[in-house]
Amino acid sequence: MTERMLALTGVTKAYGQVPALAGIDLDVSRGDLLAVLGPSGCGKTTLLRCVAGFERVDSGRIDVAGRQVAGARGHVPPHRRRVAVVPQDGALFPHLSVADNVGYGLDRAERRGGRIEEVLTLVGLDGYGGRMPHQLSGGQQQRVAVARALAPRPPLVLLDEPFSALDAQLRGELRADVRQALRADGATAVLVTHDQGEALSMADAVAVLDAGRIVQCGAPAEVYRDPATPWVARFVGDAVLLPATVDADVAVTPLGRLPLRGPAADGPVTVLIRPEQLRLAPTGGSVATVVRQAFHGHDALTTLRLADGTLLTARTLDEGGALPAGAQVGVTVRGPVRAYAGPV
Ligand code: ADP
Ligand code: MG
Repeated sequence: MTERMLALTGVTKAYGQVPALAGIDLDVSRGDLLAVLGPSGCGKTTLLRCVAGFERVDSGRIDVAGRQVAGARGHVPPHRRRVAVVPQDGALFPHLSVADNVGYGLDRAERRGGRIEEVLTLVGLDGYGGRMPHQLSGGQQQRVAVARALAPRPPLVLLDEPFSALDAQLRGELRADVRQALRADGATAVLVTHDQGEALSMADAVAVLDAGRIVQCGAPAEVYRDPATPWVARFVGDAVLLPATVDADVAVTPLGRLPLRGPAADGPVTVLIRPEQLRLAPTGGSVATVVRQAFHGHDALTTLRLADGTLLTARTLDEGGALPAGAQVGVTVRGPVRAYAGPV
């Protein structure tokens, strides 16, 4: 059986009249990384601060590594929870060397035992122990912050949008390296982010948070392919949402009759198609007119209009070269579509 390293049960927290967390249930198993994904202001930081002990919950309970740290039995203070936090800006001690920053939470025996060098190697900073924080780039400072969090082998590491201040290329590298370091050290972690790419690429499970509530929790591929609501569909990626009618387990859509992902009752629905499910060809399928094309290097997004005026966005690789506005193409759909009850 997998061991639960974090459990939240019915956690609520309000600031005066503002309900920041409206009944949160979450589990994280040992060694997993849970991403909590949601827009700005949805309660992500509040959730982390409640787990770390910087905020008191109003109701519900929190257990870390099998021990109740918040709930009916009271409030365990932050320094006694053994939960490590990696803040957005790293927050290193500017007057301490990298090694002293990393060793800050360790006793003398642990410092001598090579743990500092071990975690610096894990984050790719072997040999940087003697540097001062101001001698490091922003990305390197975040690596030190992660090493410092891992050093005392806490049961749980919390990361609050740790890469958001970095540029895109650095962010991608750091995501992969930090995920690898957490895994190599056997750490259990919760990462909060508003960046869907970060959540989908790093996490074992993604919990989507909207206005203090978890609207869906599942594996990254499940949340992307089978979002619980149209709002989740839009939040975790580009979405084409079309009006349709379900008739005998098939969706009748402006792009023809399409197979459904999962059962849906007969009647009016909204179907979700991901832009990469749309295939463009000179002929075949539904006739569409190119409105515009945005080139993104690795792919292109092509906006199309069907004869009935419906607008669609297709994601295509550079197979047939650029498509000029006004060109006519045939559109087909690959794979099943998800249906939601009710109109768009
Ligand atoms: P996120 O991290 O997802 O952007 P937060 O957890 O910071 O969201 O905030 C959730 C909600 O709680 C927001 O409406 C925010 O304005 C409010 N809030 C956060 N911290 C405080 C505070 N200390 N006092 C009052 N309201 C707060
Ligand atoms: Mg925040």
